[in-house]
Amino acid sequence: MASKTAKKQVYLFPQGNKDMKDLLGGKGANLAEMSNLGLPVPPGFTITTEACMQFLKQKRMPAGVMDGVRAAMKQVEKETGKGFGDPKNPLLVSVRSGAKMSMPGMMDTILNLGLNDQTLQGMIKLTRNERFAYDAYRRFIMMFSSVALHLERSNFDKMMDAMKKKRGVKQDTELTAADLKALVAQFKAFFKAKMKRDFPTDPMEQLETAITAVFGSWNIKRAVDYRNQYHIPHDLGTAVNVQTMVFGNMGNDSGTGVAFTRDVATGEKMTYGEFLMNAQGEDVVAGVRTPIKIAKMKTQSPRIYKEFVTLATRIEKHYRDAMDIEFTIERGTLYILQCRVGKRTARAAVRIAVEMVGEKLISKAEAVMRVEPDQINQLLLPDFDPKEKERAEKEGRLLAKGLNASPGAASGAAVFTADKAAELGLGGEGRAVVLVRPETTPDDVHGMFASKGILTARGGATSHAAVVARGLGLPCVAGCEAIRVDEEKGRLSADGKVLKEGEAISIDGATGEVFAGLIPTIEPNLTKEKELTTLLGWADKIRRLEVWANADYPRDAIRARSFGAQGIGLCRTEHMFMETERLPIVQRMILAKTSEERTKALDELLPFQRSDFIGVLKAMDGLPVVIRLIDPPLHEFLPNHDELLVEVTELECRSPKSPKLKKARAMLAEVEGMREMNPMLGLRGCRLSIVMPEIVEMQTRAIIEAACECEKKKVDVHVKIMIPLVGHINELRLIRQRLEPVAKRVMKEKGVKVDYKFGTMIEIPRAALTADEVATEAEFFSFGTNDLTQTCFGFSRDDAEGKFLLKYVEDKILPDNPFQTLDQKGVGKLMETAVKLGRKTRPKLELGICGEHGGDPRSVEFCHRLGLDYVSCSPFRVPIARLAAAQAVVQDKVAKSDSR
Ligand code: PEP
Ligand code: MG
Repeated sequence: MASKTAKKQVYLFPQGNKDMKDLLGGKGANLAEMSNLGLPVPPGFTITTEACMQFLKQKRMPAGVMDGVRAAMKQVEKETGKGFGDPKNPLLVSVRSGAKMSMPGMMDTILNLGLNDQTLQGMIKLTRNERFAYDAYRRFIMMFSSVALHLERSNFDKMMDAMKKKRGVKQDTELTAADLKALVAQFKAFFKAKMKRDFPTDPMEQLETAITAVFGSWNIKRAVDYRNQYHIPHDLGTAVNVQTMVFGNMGNDSGTGVAFTRDVATGEKMTYGEFLMNAQGEDVVAGVRTPIKIAKMKTQSPRIYKEFVTLATRIEKHYRDAMDIEFTIERGTLYILQCRVGKRTARAAVRIAVEMVGEKLISKAEAVMRVEPDQINQLLLPDFDPKEKERAEKEGRLLAKGLNASPGAASGAAVFTADKAAELGLGGEGRAVVLVRPETTPDDVHGMFASKGILTARGGATSHAAVVARGLGLPCVAGCEAIRVDEEKGRLSADGKVLKEGEAISIDGATGEVFAGLIPTIEPNLTKEKELTTLLGWADKIRRLEVWANADYPRDAIRARSFGAQGIGLCRTEHMFMETERLPIVQRMILAKTSEERTKALDELLPFQRSDFIGVLKAMDGLPVVIRLIDPPLHEFLPNHDELLVEVTELECRSPKSPKLKKARAMLAEVEGMREMNPMLGLRGCRLSIVMPEIVEMQTRAIIEAACECEKKKVDVHVKIMIPLVGHINELRLIRQRLEPVAKRVMKEKGVKVDYKFGTMIEIPRAALTADEVATEAEFFSFGTNDLTQTCFGFSRDDAEGKFLLKYVEDKILPDNPFQTLDQKGVGKLMETAVKLGRKTRPKLELGICGEHGGDPRSVEFCHRLGLDYVSCSPFRVPIARLAAAQAVVQDKVAKSDSR
């Protein structure tokens, strides 16, 4: 018995509202809200997420839940005028999961619950439709057995297929009442054989078992995988919604569908969606039958269409967002089954947000919050090179055309199972793969995560494949019925051609086209994205953090600027050393035996470096440019040790007297001399500059000469010279003392004064911990969080991900890969310390971040809170960081007003 003080565990729909998502789940809260709005929602109730968590802890139904369920059921019976288990007028219910965050298809649902041999007779009498009643019954037995009692669903599918074969029909709808009746008997017999008991007939027992199953589905693998992917906490639990069934499969005046209040692909304001006549919801969602566009309803059932559009408009106005609405028409009466904020492509998200500001539905700050920063990537997604695509068409490589379910172009090896995709794709061997399936189910999600794109033979724009792909920003072509997928043999056939596993395939998620072979892709163009430009413009007005870019070459700097970068936060000079014509000079410089030899090589390098810097400074005219002096260990510029060893050994066998061997031996000796056990912790960064100062002296000269030349040409230069890998103030002091005179000398020679600063990277914990000292010599700090993460954790950044880090994340030893998302507790603490100490010494110390984390939305938010001046990231992530920085401000305001 529940005690008097026990919390309410069961809420009738009208007892909740949309703000109760924590307790009632997203679906439950919306059902409550819609009921209160007076929308035609079939009556029902919600069992709370708290009850679920209690269930998962105790491993049994918490006390009082079933009492609450019985009481609520009485109320529903009253409202519907039907009886749960009443053979004359039976009430049937659906039992669905519903977590706080939408997790589409991730957990299980049971429909038509309450059916048994007696209530079935009632249904037959009431509907005068024996076929319908048996169809509902066989569906129920199948779902209940597989979902609640874990009997493999394929067993039931096989019996269905056998029946269709026997009757010589293709569609489920072609089976007669007698066929379905026979199937019900087969299903029950199968159940009894497997479970050693009869199929449960007591509706309340059915309900209790179903509730237990939905609670339990919170922890099934695919749900856990989904939460890991989307950073959804594991301790939220799912609510259970029990709702009166309405039937879309009661004949041709019935139907079911899913609609969005705006086009989910483009964002255009229109009722967009699909429906199927004489069908039940699962047929649409599972993609078993390919549905019809909702626009057709306008001509087929104009009254219902009008009614639906009116309701949809009301729902959207109420929620002030584009909504995804599930509806059912039962014998000409429209019911709304659920609504939730609709998942959408990046393009749609941006357009909807911007247009809703225009419609005065939301504010600009709200619009900025409506787009996931990472989603913008989709607008910057690659497209096929049109010439290459044309060529593919001319060569007759267009295999088929399906539904354009999620935009973007993908090319890669065709794989036919999710496991194979996971094995070969991202996170596995790292190859580009396209997952090809007859249709996808939530069990395929791990393979989808690993793929570049998804192709399915069945299912519509609201099928599982389409919904999940859009959320992931993966290109997807769905419902491509012209292809036949043979997953067992690992091949597909279309247009008379056969593609085997591993052979190249290309899909265009924007057009639905499928090609054989690889088609190269090209970069997108941000300037054409008018709505995104508007949204980012609003974000720029809101954010405090500046967004700079990491760019080594003038072309990267130009692109970064076009994406809205306000400076270059990291120009890695060593990449310039790697270019073919320069590398031999660099090698001569490294291997020089005398100072003169080295100076000669450096003199040859100087003009290259100077022209590189002129290019970058010109591209960033008026904006700051941070140029980092040489960082990597020198052996990176020399031939690979193992390859050299092989070469020497081969030459020793083949031509022991050749001059080539002599040269190779000499190089091998040099390379061996420079070999280090832990090069990332060895002679690199400022350590190298101390041992071999000539290189950074040349670089400083090249930078200041470039700056002077630019100034002469009226380019507004703000150059910052950054010294990497400092751990002790003396390292920085020594180097600065050597370089400052070089800078002054050059300016004197050129008769030009330039705005330059010396600063350092904070990427060694000791530098962070002694930042007050470091700041006496550094005019700016830039957090090199790649190395700072490496040194803080003691993880080798070159090896950790491949060897153990991904397992760490998978096994939840770490919540995220710390090389992607900043470890706020550890690395973040070092940063916080450095900020505090650094500003104590130098209150106006300029602070930024240039590790890969600078483009990661959660890390950007952290940098905002830390009070950094800017984040610097790769050019393509600049728009993402701009939006994330604005969201950080809005969130901050919300948090502050909440705490007031
Ligand atoms: C860093 O360490 O964060 C950094 C930006 O430098 P690099 O990745 O070149 O070591
Ligand atoms: Mg570094």
